[in-house]
Amino acid sequence: MGEAWEHRDMFIDNFFCTCGVENRKLIDIKVYLNDINDIILRGNCSGCRTIAARYIETGENPESAKAGKRIREMKKKSR
Ligand SMILES: [Zn+2]
Repeated sequence: MGEAWEHRDMFIDNFFCTCGVENRKLIDIKVYLNDINDIILRGNCSGCRTIAARYIETGENPESAKAGKRIREMKKKSR
């Protein structure tokens, strides 16, 4: 599956990391969906190069829900 999807950018620069480097991004991302369709991005912090993750509850806001739906469709297609 291609890991690029249109809502991704709004999540990759908005994650927690203890290094506190400014303008860090989540890189080398893998995208997962859990049973309740929440989105999990796993990758590395561009600031300190350690493993970082962003967990996105798709109930959080409509854009997240849309993104979750999009990923689900992409995963279905790749089967
Ligand atoms: Zn970091």
